[in-house]
Amino acid sequence: MQRTARRDNTFERAVRSRLHARGLRYRIHYPIPGMKRTTCDFAFPGMKIAVFLDGCFWHGCELHPQSVKKNTDFWLSKIERNRERDAQATAHLTELGWTVLRFWEHETTDAIVTRIASVVETRRNAMLFDRTTSTLENEQGPSRKLEAVDSDITLAEAELGQ
Ligand SMILES: [Zn+2]
Repeated sequence: MQRTARRDNTFERAVRSRLHARGLRYRIHYPIPGMKRTTCDFAFPGMKIAVFLDGCFWHGCELHPQSVKKNTDFWLSKIERNRERDAQATAHLTELGWTVLRFWEHETTDAIVTRIASVVETRRNAMLFDRTTSTLENEQGPSRKLEAVDSDITLAEAELGQ
C-alpha cells in the first residue's frame, strides 16, 4: 500500500511533467535489467539513463532523520533495507553501463529537472556523434547487403519459374 503511494507521489509527478514540457520522453517505473521486481522511477532506456527520486523518509535521507514513534525497529529496518536495495540497484546499473541519477525529495524541482535535461542532452549528442562516425565507417556495408538480398530474390524467382 505504502509502495503505491510512494510511486506516484506529487514529487515524482512534478518532475515528470516538467521534463515532459521540455520535450523529454521517458518510460515510467522502468524495470531494471537483471534485477527482479526492481524498477527505477523513470528511465531513458535508449540512452541508458535511470532516474530515482528518493523520498526522504523511505530512503533514509540523513538531512531529514525519521521521527517514528511506533514500531520504530520495524520502520528503521525497512528503511535500512531500502537503502541497501538502492545501493545495489545503482551498482548494478552502473556495471551495465547506465548513468544513474538519484535525487532527494528535498531537492528543488528546478535543480532536478535542469540536471536531468543536461545529462540527457550530453548523452544524446554523444550518441549522434557515434552514429555519424559509424555510418561513415560502414558506408559500403548496407549497399552490399541490399545487393545480396536482391540476388536472392532473383534466384527465388528463377526457381519458381522452372
Ligand atoms: Zn531530505
